[in-house]
Formats: sequence, structure tokens, C-alpha cells
Amino acid sequence: MPVFIPSSLTDATRLLSNNPSAHLVTGGTDLMVEVNFNHRHPETVISLRKIPEFQHWNIDNKSGVVHIGSSVPYATMEHGELAQALPALAEAARTVGSPQIRAAGSLGGNLGTCSPAGDSLPVLSALNAIVHLHSETTSRSVPFAEFMVGPKRNSRLPNEIISGVTIPLTNGWQGYAKVGVRNAMVISVASVCLAIHDGNVRVALGSVGPTIIRGSESEAWINSVGLENVTPSVAQEFGERVRAESRPIDDHRSTAEYRRHAVGVLATRLLLRGVQR
Ligand SMILES: Cc1cc2nc3c(=O)[nH]c(=O)nc-3n(C[C@H](O)[C@H](O)[C@H](O)COP(=O)(O)OP(=O)(O)OC[C@H]3O[C@@H](n4cnc5c(N)ncnc54)[C@H](O)[C@@H]3O)c2cc1C
Repeated sequence: MPVFIPSSLTDATRLLSNNPSAHLVTGGTDLMVEVNFNHRHPETVISLRKIPEFQHWNIDNKSGVVHIGSSVPYATMEHGELAQALPALAEAARTVGSPQIRAAGSLGGNLGTCSPAGDSLPVLSALNAIVHLHSETTSRSVPFAEFMVGPKRNSRLPNEIISGVTIPLTNGWQGYAKVGVRNAMVISVASVCLAIHDGNVRVALGSVGPTIIRGSESEAWINSVGLENVTPSVAQEFGERVRAESRPIDDHRSTAEYRRHAVGVLATRLLLRGVQR
């Protein structure tokens, strides 16, 4: 099986154009599981890990954005400057798998798989991230809300590669929380990212619908109440409204009813945490 290891975006997009059935790989923590379970049979693989611009991240305070290359691993997001700029992403990164998975797994791979349980995805949704896509001849940038179109489905075209994401900085508190069947090494059965910007709350829900769900009605309600008026009972009501916006299903990880309950509890807790800081 040929494995191409391009060292530039230009080479990578050309290789993909010349080998349309090739499978892309970054950390391989999703792809190799699929191969091991006989769900995918790559004849050609294009590895994206050696492309320098995919490995970089930078904080542009002047423009108020953070750019993260698609091959940056979770381990880099967990600590340091990147974690200070994007605390919710750091919290989400810390919950992913084990240290080995976090050393290899990437945002590009989480976006490529696009599972509703992907831990980075509610954060990208709540922070209004933009996903950058390139083919041999085109480049485009897509808001996360338009990128994820269904469970494990996204709007990436077969000849496109994700180079990274741009995430606008927020000026208020942000946090992420998830519930799983145990405390570590666990795929979420419900997750929530809550971010505050210019005094307004944004909330995004994972694992409780076919895509990540922005709790738009809950956001509108809490923003009309005002953060200064958040009491425990207001936070409880917010959780109820978030719960009503979720669209979970029963599956091997959880029941829909438990997911609905959990997502409401997480939203209540995150809102209280946000206003207490
Ligand atoms: C033991 C274990 C525990 C895990 N725990 C978690 C968890 O807690 N939370 C969680 O969210 N995930 C978890 N995962 C899943 C996985 O680690 C993440 O989804 C990770 O982000 C995948 O990144 P990767 O670089 O390894 O992707 P890969 O496996 O390399 O790729 C995943 C998919 O994305 C495509 N792809 C990769 N890079 C690009 C790109 N630049 N452009 C376009 N398409 C691309 C690939 O073709 C493939 O379809 C776990 C996996 C394992 C094996």
C-alpha cells in the first residue's frame, strides 16, 4: 500500500487530486481503528503530519483570533499559551482518550471524522470557529455551523484537505464539560461548551443530536435575562431550556433520556461557573 508523506500543502492537494480514492491520515487514532475493524480498506494513504503549516498555531491578539493547524495534537492544546487563550478547548483536549491518543490525535482528525461525540467540536461551535479547506485549485473557509452536516458527515469535498481552523478570541469565561460512562478514556454521552463574549452566552451541545447543536433559543433567553441576574434557579431554568433543545437518541452508550438529563445538568453547572468567575 503506497503511503505518501507530502511536506507541503501544494504537494498534498496535488497528490489527493491524482489519487482521488486515497485516505488522508493525521494521527491515525480514528483511521487505524476503522482499518483494524475492517471498516476501511485504504489502497493509498496520504499522511499530513509532515506539512509544516499544519503543525503550527499562533495567537494574533491584534486581529483577536487564534489559528490552529489541523495536525496540532491535543497535547499542545492542554497547557501553556494556547490553553490560556482558549481554556474551553484545553478542557476538551484534556478529556480526550489517554496521553498517547492526545499526543497523536488532532483537530483535523476530529473534524474529518465529525462524530457528534468529538470533544473539540462543541468548542469550535460555541467559539464560532472557521474551518479552512483546500483543493489543488481552490481554497475556502467555512463556519463550523456549515461544516458539520450530519453524524460523521461534513461539507468537505473529496478533493479537499482541512488545513486548520481560525477561532475568534472571546473576552469572557469559557468552559467545557462532558459526561461519559466512566471518568477517563471515555467517549462522551453528553457534552457542553459554554462561552461568554461581550456579556452574551453561547452554548453548544455534543452527543445529543446528529450534529453539534447550538442552543440558540437558550442563548436568546439567558441573554434577555442578563448575566447579572443569574441565580441558581435561573441557571436551572437555563439547563431545562438547553435540555429541550437537545435531540438525543438511544444507543449502545446511553439512553436518550439520560443524555437529555445530563446535558441540562452540564449547562446549568457551566453557567453558574461562568457567572461566579
Ligand atoms: C482509545 C481512543 C480514545 C479516544 N478518545 C476520544 C475522546 O475522548 N474524544 C474524542 O473526541 N475522540 C476520541 N478518540 C477519537 C480520535 O482520537 C479523535 O477523533 C482524534 O481527534 C482524531 O485525530 P487523528 O489526527 O488521529 O485523526 P485520523 O485518524 O488521522 O483521521 C480521522 C479522519 O479524519 C480524516 N482526516 C485527518 N486529517 C485530515 C485533514 N487534515 N483534512 C481532512 N481530513 C482529515 C481522515 O481521513 C479520517 O477520516 C479516541 C480514539 C481512540 C483510539
